Amino acid sequence: MAKINVGIDLGTTYSAVATFSKEEGKVKLLKNSYGKEFTPSVLWIENGKVSIGEDAKAEQKAGNTSTVAFYKSMMGDDNYRAYIDGKEYSAMELSTMYLRELKAEIERENGVQIGGAVITVPAYFNEKQRNQTRLAGEKAGFKVFMLLNEPTSAIIAYGLTGGGKKNVLVYDLGGGTFDVTVAEVNGTAINVLATNGNHQLGGKDWDQALLDEIVDRFRYEHGVDIKYYPNELSELQVKCEDAKKKLSSLSSTTISIVCDGVTGRFDVTREEFDEKTSGLLNETYLLINDTFNEIGAARGTSFGWADIDEVVLVGGSTRMPQVRDMIVAEYGRAPITKDINVDTIVASGAAMQAELCVSSTICLTVVDKKATQATGKTQVATLTISNADIKDITAHSLGMLAMAADEKSYVNSIIIPKNSNVNVPFAKDFVFGGKKLDVYVLQGESRDPHQTAIIGRYEITGMKGDKKENITVTFLYNSDGVVEVTARIKGGAELRVERKDVAEDMTDIINRLKKEADEAKNARKVEITVIIDVSGSMSGDRIEKARQAARGFVDDVLKIPGATISLIGFADSEQYACKKSRDKQALYDAIAGIWNLPVGGGTSGKPIAYCYRDYDRDAAKVMIVLTDGYWGNQSSEISASDAAKAEGIIIYGIGIGEADQTFLDRISSGKGKKVDLSNLGGAFREVASSIATETGNGSLI
Ligand code: AMP
Repeated sequence: MAKINVGIDLGTTYSAVATFSKEEGKVKLLKNSYGKEFTPSVLWIENGKVSIGEDAKAEQKAGNTSTVAFYKSMMGDDNYRAYIDGKEYSAMELSTMYLRELKAEIERENGVQIGGAVITVPAYFNEKQRNQTRLAGEKAGFKVFMLLNEPTSAIIAYGLTGGGKKNVLVYDLGGGTFDVTVAEVNGTAINVLATNGNHQLGGKDWDQALLDEIVDRFRYEHGVDIKYYPNELSELQVKCEDAKKKLSSLSSTTISIVCDGVTGRFDVTREEFDEKTSGLLNETYLLINDTFNEIGAARGTSFGWADIDEVVLVGGSTRMPQVRDMIVAEYGRAPITKDINVDTIVASGAAMQAELCVSSTICLTVVDKKATQATGKTQVATLTISNADIKDITAHSLGMLAMAADEKSYVNSIIIPKNSNVNVPFAKDFVFGGKKLDVYVLQGESRDPHQTAIIGRYEITGMKGDKKENITVTFLYNSDGVVEVTARIKGGAELRVERKDVAEDMTDIINRLKKEADEAKNARKVEITVIIDVSGSMSGDRIEKARQAARGFVDDVLKIPGATISLIGFADSEQYACKKSRDKQALYDAIAGIWNLPVGGGTSGKPIAYCYRDYDRDAAKVMIVLTDGYWGNQSSEISASDAAKAEGIIIYGIGIGEADQTFLDRISSGKGKKVDLSNLGGAFREVASSIATETGNGSLI
């Protein structure tokens, strides 16, 4: 049996399946058991038996409540459940059952075996809706090559020219979704420029408007509310859709319904129908304008109807004359409808894309209009289409939850703007010191994260966590329009990225992150070591002023949450007077006793080498060195200070008296500070203030 790959237009109301014949260079639509090229997307489940298509639609028409339709517009909605045949089903489960039956029917009727498939989705479908569509296809037994945006699919099937450049607007109004897409077509290359849509707006809303009208009239004339009669309501729903379709070719029609023993007959004119539904049509008009504005903004010029070369109508609902009328009024020209079958064009493009997924180029046989005109006989030409020439875009911006500049609120920081090409990576660098980095990825345009959809929490691991590192996180919309995240140490190893589902809502996430950030801030240790020169030259006023400055420093620094102080006295040797303490009295006592430490009176000590290994790895590390003269071991202490700085220790050198500025500069992280004795307190105060801001543990004031 022939094994084929197909394109599937999984429509809200109708679905179609097509395949591309390489031999003939054209698309073939595959027929269902009724010999039709499109199949109603209706399911009928009774006593465990699943039926689809015309049979299910007939049952629905007869008011059988074991039928379900329009589940495609509920895709991605966790709260949606259809109750049929004693069981409840999600939209994804219904789509799976439908696709499974459709596959079996098409295989049976056409004597083929289907392998791979490209399934189309509204361009405006979000991450979740796309993921669920792919999963439904896979569970139904297809190898899903990719998902393809419906308007892009229509352009592939219809729009390629083989020469010339043109801007094409695709107006796609189906049974449950609306998409507007503008693309630039250049020969056989397609560059989608912008897309917008509303996945809750479609033909069903026009049906509903008519249904509401008839229900009102019935109640008004007969005092019976059909809404309380589910079977009759279901029947009326189908009749309203039929009436709507009739109004596409007739100027008026009649709807009859029997409910509670009363027969109602209602005449509806096209004018009345158009009037009742003008708000719905206007929504599509506004989305077209948004699309033009987005293209204009991206190009820095204005963009409007005058820049459009062709308008293509796709989807069954574009048969309503009101759609065409609106376009003629705005565009000044009629949209293209000739040569286009609005019901099957999307499946046709998907079939070509399915072959492109396997072969990367295909040869399409087209009618050569010029040659045909010139010779008076149909002449054909071949267009070579390359997968690489089809550049699609994303309808939704992708962002991440980030702390705002005020460090108090959280915002959606956009990484991939809407209308960016798919398959193009966007990188973001983070400076990070931990072992696990969480990135919340959001989809939506708003800066307010509450107005976005959470795609997931991406947990990045594999960092050593012993020091701050530059991490590059790369975000990408793949061909399915689904997000992929990868991460690596900048210029180095790949990191592990795991996507986790998020159960919390945005408010809970933000509250928890704020709490964690506060706790982390308070929990972060800041270790400060103060080294005081107690050699002979410090005797008298110098040591007294040093003690005073140290006491002030203790007062200031203890206001920093998580800060501890160690005190070292040094001369010929060195010794801790106090280690990692937050006890004010103990620190005061250590300061008072520093002159009496048994460290001699010369300057041959090595205090920096003595203490720099005593810091905790995770702490913010600070060293302050106070001296009034030359050290016997200056060069080895400079080496020790380099080693200390390499460990992330910030060193402040403070000099008084005969201190050597060059030495102070060499050991310090910044410049050394030489001050008059009278300014020593001020110098220590400044250091305390820097520590508070630089370690991020709050300010002293
Ligand atoms: P699709 O999802 O593209 O299959 O679109 C199906 C939608 O088109 C349904 O809402 C149908 O009611 C609608 N439709 C089909 N034929 C007509 C017609 N002649 N006039 C108006 N709406 C139609």
